[in-house]
Amino acid sequence: MDLRSGHCFWPINSGLVRSYPCLSENLKCDVLVIGAGITGALVADHLSQLGINVLVLDRRDVGRGSTSASTAMLQYEIDMHLSDLITRIGKPQAERAYQLCSDAIDNLAQLAEQLPDCGFSRKDSFYFASSEDDVESLEKEYQARKQAGFDVQLWGREAIVEHFNFSAPCGIYSTQGAQVDPFLLTHALLKRAQSNGASIFDRTRVAKIDQSAQGITAITERGLEVRAQKVVFACGYEAQSWLKEKVVDLNSTFALITEPNVVFDGWHKQCLLWESARPYSYLRTTSDNRIIIGGEDEAFKNSELRDAVLEHKRTKLIKKLAELMPKIPFEVAYAWAGTFGETQDGLAYIGETDEFPNAYFALGYGGNGITYSVVAAQIIADLYLGKPNADAEIFRFGR
Ligand SMILES: Cc1cc2nc3c(=O)[nH]c(=O)nc-3n(C[C@H](O)[C@H](O)[C@H](O)COP(=O)(O)OP(=O)(O)OC[C@H]3O[C@@H](n4cnc5c(N)ncnc54)[C@H](O)[C@@H]3O)c2cc1C
Repeated sequence: MDLRSGHCFWPINSGLVRSYPCLSENLKCDVLVIGAGITGALVADHLSQLGINVLVLDRRDVGRGSTSASTAMLQYEIDMHLSDLITRIGKPQAERAYQLCSDAIDNLAQLAEQLPDCGFSRKDSFYFASSEDDVESLEKEYQARKQAGFDVQLWGREAIVEHFNFSAPCGIYSTQGAQVDPFLLTHALLKRAQSNGASIFDRTRVAKIDQSAQGITAITERGLEVRAQKVVFACGYEAQSWLKEKVVDLNSTFALITEPNVVFDGWHKQCLLWESARPYSYLRTTSDNRIIIGGEDEAFKNSELRDAVLEHKRTKLIKKLAELMPKIPFEVAYAWAGTFGETQDGLAYIGETDEFPNAYFALGYGGNGITYSVVAAQIIADLYLGKPNADAEIFRFGR
């Protein structure tokens, strides 16, 4: 999400929750976290709870990166089917990756209980076939998920028409899912991290990192320095610029939100919805009874080009929503555009890379980046504490 675009939902909805100072002196810490989006906030919260001295820097206001644009559907089902991931990386690791995302939803539920209201609620999730061509792959996917122990049902056309306004050849209904306001969650986590000793500064861009045997020195664009044993890159889609290894393709995605008080006729349990087409459309409802629909992804070139097509994408999303939910009258409140990263295997990149000693990366790319952010916080804490973490292998660089 580029601030210049001005198309973001959550900050507008939630107002300016809290502001932090910009860095005004040289400082030292155990761990420097670059990026105060949902990933940096989860990492900072986790590490500071363990008594580690954390300092967070963000070039924008807190939570104003992709986090402010996110539709924040929390799903264990990643962009690559489990059945395809098994073929790619083997059954144990593929099932483990899915399980970690599922566990992340439970972890977020626990966090939500400890923090002020962040709009977290459990939701079922329905993944439907966009066309007859996808039926076979969804049936295969259903079998793979069932074998892995997930609570799933395969619904045919009849069951779908019974539960929803729309018809589709088949779909997988899952009971594990949730939604959250990622902007509020980010702020709540950082506030707690601060109360546990973390120092947080926004509007402070890290321009350069110097490395030594003792650790790193981050130099900001205003020439101030932060010395740390380790640095965590939680800079979202902008992290690629720190790496030689190409790990991510950037996409633009588009979303809109309706006015509140929609009556959800023909939307079973107001579950999370997404489809098998690529790129896919994704839909959810909000606690004040709005609909959010996103999709129409295309390769990201720059924010000006992305934002120039917003009006066109808005029209397409309205058409898609009207097709899916013909019995639900709605009025559009506004639309926005955002940028997200996509990896070849749909998995995040988390952990260390030979290119950058004393650094950890927390790059939760993909359609369910937020669940990856939870996984990243756990893995990075273990790496920092020198505790073995077998899951790090799944998300390693150079794979
Ligand atoms: C429209 C849209 C819909 C999405 N829907 C979903 C969804 O339904 N479910 C889901 O799980 N995920 C979704 N995602 C993805 C999800 O939003 C991201 O995975 C998540 O927000 C990434 O958080 P982050 O903290 O890693 O990155 P960001 O929120 O982008 O935060 C990175 C921060 O790093 C800062 N930064 C960068 N470089 C520097 C630097 N040099 N110095 C200091 N600070 C720096 C930036 O200012 C930024 O605030 C969606 C994304 C978009 C755009």
